[in-house]
Amino acid sequence: MSFNVKDMLAGYDKDNLTIATVCSHSSLQIFHGARMEGFKTLGICVGKPPRLYDAFPLAKPDEFFAVDSYKDIPNHVEELAKRNVILIPHGSFVEYLGTKQFEALGLPTFGNRKVLEWESDRKAERVWLESAGLTMPEGINDPRDITKPVIVKYQGAKGGRGFFIAKNYHEFQRKINHEQEYTIQEFVLGTRYYIHYFYSPIAQEGYKLSKGALQMLSMDRRDETNIDEANRLGSIKELEEVGITPTFVVTGNIPIVLRESLLPKVFEMGERVVEKSLELFGGMLGPFCLETVVTDQLEFKVFEISARIVAGTNPYINGSPYSEFIEPGLSTGRRIAQEIKRARDLGKLEDIIT
Ligand code: ATP
Repeated sequence: MSFNVKDMLAGYDKDNLTIATVCSHSSLQIFHGARMEGFKTLGICVGKPPRLYDAFPLAKPDEFFAVDSYKDIPNHVEELAKRNVILIPHGSFVEYLGTKQFEALGLPTFGNRKVLEWESDRKAERVWLESAGLTMPEGINDPRDITKPVIVKYQGAKGGRGFFIAKNYHEFQRKINHEQEYTIQEFVLGTRYYIHYFYSPIAQEGYKLSKGALQMLSMDRRDETNIDEANRLGSIKELEEVGITPTFVVTGNIPIVLRESLLPKVFEMGERVVEKSLELFGGMLGPFCLETVVTDQLEFKVFEISARIVAGTNPYINGSPYSEFIEPGLSTGRRIAQEIKRARDLGKLEDIIT
């Protein structure tokens, strides 16, 4: 059966909306933030409700909705719609369900789903970011052209699993698995900053864009195992000699504050990427993250965009050194709930929900 999201939303009881998401990733702050804004909350889980939420009562959803597997969510559309559910996507939600199924899911969802086409394909992502005027690490099409350190990324290898560094063609040949699709990117040496923005197409105040306004709520650095701790055992070369290849699997997030003089560049990048998205596919909206490396020339190289809430916002459930200047105690989870509330009160839910 197919469902029309617009009609479904039109039929919702707007005074009784429920904020729902999958119980993982950044769900604690999504539920916590929604509750602070007066929404009911629903946690989608596989099997029994996870006990974890008993430990954090202020972030526990009002109701759990158990499915046999996340892939089964599309079979529960009617039951969820009865609860006036608005889904909040996060990285794990989209990954567990699969990009295509997520795009096709017949339930009102916060954000513009069209962004997935541009973001989930590394080539399309490069077209978007470069045409927005952002600098990306150089892409290398032919491995024989490797003349400087590169990082090799397998398509769909989430969380950096299986990525490897090669300093020349010979090393690439030794490490590559030709059975998987991959892209090769210049390895940028510098400091990593994952910048968390929030774009509202309905905001009237603040850092205004051609439509709406942009906020920068926080930033983090990912803690990645075991590359980040590899030097405790010696150089990467030494590790490889004993058969250990460093990996980039994210295990946590560290709060970051940037040199203040770089902040104007941060806003310029955010603005460009939003304006280009408006032109290309009607605009992404809500939280997004630019994943960057800053070189010693103080240049930002953007290696990825994530067009939804990222787990790097989790250290800031009671505000960040930036969001404090917007509103005390503002988390990204709460900002999402606010956006839904404001759009509802303005009669503009269709502008932020697809
Ligand atoms: P996710 O979807 O979780 O963001 P991913 O699997 O798409 O991850 P990337 O974010 O592209 O992978 O890369 C994983 C990690 O590899 C980054 O967090 C960063 O530490 C490192 N990395 C990626 N690209 C580069 C680059 N060009 N130069 C240096 N380091 C990089």
